Amino acid sequence: MSPCRVMKLKDGAMAIVCSRGSRSNAKPCYVCGQPSRFLCDYPVTKRLVAKGPMEYPNTTTGTCDKPMCERCRNNVGENRDYCNAHFRLSRKEDPTP
Ligand SMILES: [Zn+2]
Ligand SMILES: [Zn+2]
Repeated sequence: MSPCRVMKLKDGAMAIVCSRGSRSNAKPCYVCGQPSRFLCDYPVTKRLVAKGPMEYPNTTTGTCDKPMCERCRNNVGENRDYCNAHFRLSRKEDPTP
């Protein structure tokens, strides 16, 4: 079905009403573009730009948050999914299989 509909107004005028992207506001999967249902949970440290001569460790921690669909995620545990790059990284960091 077309996302656009032609609506007839009371005075005889026509109006075209389009509904786009209202199904979900999910970001597209970073691999295949499908609507994502998962985010990369790999912890990352984002360094903020320090201003002035005094340098403080202006860091904030968060997660990678790359959007992934069910097929492209790498499930590493309960409610934990990594993107491909971080999945490889996590395997390298952890010597135990
Ligand atoms: Zn995908
Ligand atoms: Zn990631």
